[in-house]
Amino acid sequence: MSLDVPPRPPVQVIGPKALRLARQAIVGCTDCPRLRTYCAGVARTKRAAYRDDAYWGRPVPGYGDPAARIFVLGLAPAAHGANRTGRVFTGDGRGGSGDFLMGALHRAGVSNIPTSQAADDGLRLRGVFVGAAARCAPPGNKPTPEEVAACRRHLAAEVAALPDLRVVVALGKIAWDAWLAFVGEHAPLPRPRPVFGHGAVAELAAPGALGPERLTLVGCFHPSRQNTHTGRVTPAMYDALFAQASRLAG
Ligand code: SF4
Repeated sequence: MSLDVPPRPPVQVIGPKALRLARQAIVGCTDCPRLRTYCAGVARTKRAAYRDDAYWGRPVPGYGDPAARIFVLGLAPAAHGANRTGRVFTGDGRGGSGDFLMGALHRAGVSNIPTSQAADDGLRLRGVFVGAAARCAPPGNKPTPEEVAACRRHLAAEVAALPDLRVVVALGKIAWDAWLAFVGEHAPLPRPRPVFGHGAVAELAAPGALGPERLTLVGCFHPSRQNTHTGRVTPAMYDALFAQASRLAG
């Protein structure tokens, strides 16, 4: 399959400094009034179990290695998880999605600890960066398409700061579609349009201004409790998928 890839513009800043700038822009963003109102309200009222915690309550930037070759793209922060702790996939309860994901990354040898419970837990990722399609916790865990589209500029800023990226692992269909929409702003998408599934793979133009001409998109069922507690998603499935992603990332 051949794709027409238009020339990409130069960028001035990459690496940790660019990630810092992206982070600042995310944390200060107020583009989605519905989400900002919801997150601030959750941070004020809190869940009883966390009543002594100082909730983050702001948009949540991505987290990980500036030399990442794999970008793990989630859906959005959880109201009492990342919206509380300020770190993506962090603090959504023992055995929650953060622990499930980090357990898999730990077994894959790219995370130094197998859990993700607090922003000061010493977690370090090697070769992996974790972000989300929307950076503010949405009511019912469902951002609107307009909110996901509005947040694309933050995804773009992080991706532009990660020139070594080779693979994007989309956790769930919304993340998959968000990545396709992002790529589609810069280059034609393959036809037929790649269909989400666990282990689905699509070779796409890279939307960043630096790095390779192509990135590989890999579909992965979301590690929500609904999936992991019902056996729809198992540790073995995640181990196989991240082994596949590591191979594709070289
Ligand atoms: S979801 Fe994204 S674009 Fe919307 S307010 Fe939050 S950070 Fe800004």
